[in-house]
Amino acid sequence: MTHSIPAIVILGQASLATARRIQQVYPAAQIHGLAGRVEGADCSYQEFGATLRDLYQHNTPIIALCAAGIVIRTLAPLLLEKGAEPAVLAVAEDGSAVVPLLGGLGGVNVMAREIAAALQVAAAITTSGELRFGTCLLNPPSGYALADLESGKRFVSDLLAGHSVRIEGAAPWLDQAQLPEDPQAQRSIHVGSAARQASANELLIYPRSVAVAISADVGDLPEAVRAALLHANIALPSLACLLAADTEMASMNLHEAALELGVPLRFVAAQSDLVALAAVAVSDAKIVTADNLAVAIAEQPLDVATIGRRRGRLAVIGLGPGAAELMVPAVKAELARCTDVLGYETYVRMAGPFRDEQVQHCTDNREEMQRARHAFRLAAEGRSVIVVSSGDPGVFAMAAAVLEALHESDDPAWHSVDLEILPGVSASLATAAQAGAPLGHDFCVMSLSDNLKPWSIIEKRLDLAAEADLALAFYNPISKARPWQLGRALEIVGQHRTAQTPVVLGRDIGRPGQTLRATTLGALTPDQVDMRTMVLIGSSTTCTFPRADGSSWVYTPRWYGEKPAS
Ligand code: SAH
Repeated sequence: MTHSIPAIVILGQASLATARRIQQVYPAAQIHGLAGRVEGADCSYQEFGATLRDLYQHNTPIIALCAAGIVIRTLAPLLLEKGAEPAVLAVAEDGSAVVPLLGGLGGVNVMAREIAAALQVAAAITTSGELRFGTCLLNPPSGYALADLESGKRFVSDLLAGHSVRIEGAAPWLDQAQLPEDPQAQRSIHVGSAARQASANELLIYPRSVAVAISADVGDLPEAVRAALLHANIALPSLACLLAADTEMASMNLHEAALELGVPLRFVAAQSDLVALAAVAVSDAKIVTADNLAVAIAEQPLDVATIGRRRGRLAVIGLGPGAAELMVPAVKAELARCTDVLGYETYVRMAGPFRDEQVQHCTDNREEMQRARHAFRLAAEGRSVIVVSSGDPGVFAMAAAVLEALHESDDPAWHSVDLEILPGVSASLATAAQAGAPLGHDFCVMSLSDNLKPWSIIEKRLDLAAEADLALAFYNPISKARPWQLGRALEIVGQHRTAQTPVVLGRDIGRPGQTLRATTLGALTPDQVDMRTMVLIGSSTTCTFPRADGSSWVYTPRWYGEKPAS
């Protein structure tokens, strides 16, 4: 069962090491540390109770490294409310005990076992059905689906009360359970893919053993799939996946249908028709055709991951300036699910930690086109690939290189990849926010690097942007290979701005050892700037005033010319 990204909540510094070990199991999970008590957590909170209740109400699984009693008392007021019940676990701060508390149907026992395995202890499972029978009938393994939860609960309590049970159909996982089996029993567990009404003393479990081959030009696909299953007398929960020809990989119609039906979509080489396609994809299956679709019915649950392949994905992501709090949640989720990460080593490291099976391809900063093509080759194989940039991937970073590589390619497999660009907080915006609002009015963003554009163009743009009285943000302001360019740039800007014009220098913003400095154009010299610095130069209206902490605020007013009456 897949659960959403959990939150790891800690109260003291002593818990951080255990929290990091748990984070290895859920790399997208953030460690929330109590402000003032924990240094080095991914984010901090002020108030334990409010934080825990807020997470709970947002259906976020909670792993709290503290006494079970504290968690119970904190969440108690919410427990009578109907609604979300995420998994909630208490873990001893030294990692010696893992106690699942709430969220039995949210997979809390599964999580408890995963965490316990990572910490090399036993999970404190207390669910009677699960303990007595060695399995949770209500939470069958991934190849099986329970028909109805409410009748399932009644069924399990009957068994706990002493009733015996018969098993009809094949479910190897149940053979290992210690169920009170008796061939004469009144109660039965029926395992099979046929659509059927459960009788009074019956627990229905469907094996996910059926695949339906579909084609992109069928209208209302979800309805067509349901009709085909009905025609083949197959219960909907037995549907394990949809199948389609790899020539139709980019069809939104197919992907939307899979999404609506809640099953994966797998692609195989195109065949003469859908019956042939289904037969190639699922060997030893009975094939039934209905309404132009082909239904492949196997005896056992399908191992979907081995059928054909999935549509590959390529996400070009922005990490933001560095701090985990400034990374957008969509990027975190993407990092958690990817199979391959490509990028400049520093950024790949910043994006981690990754699980062992996630492959890291670190490259030199300059090999952008090679990296982009490598990413497409991997994604075209069906892998889920991330290309990392710092800040925003569309700002002097990998997104344009990736699109260039795709534009140059006529490989249909590359064009079929599910390509998405996920934004990040760019260095200019992160720096501006710390300084106040120097980019609060119109501004111009430039890279001072002349690696990929002639210096004459840079001079011309600088001149025009400065003349237009735009605030300026300089990326790549200087480097060993480009020592004099910044000085020349400042000369050009100086022709249009006074020496008092406010300037902000942000270095390693959002990273350890960050520095922020407000100065003026007249006082700015290139030796105050290096390649890890963001340079913001104000317009004629940008102003500064003292902050209570002794530094200063820098901002550019929203208006221009005369201040409007307020
Ligand atoms: N895509 C990135 C920019 C890459 S260009 C973004 O959107 O932020 C690299 C330049 O960005 C550096 O030379 C520096 O000028 C600036 N930069 C990147 N990260 C920075 C940070 N954390 N602090 C200050 N400047 C940074």
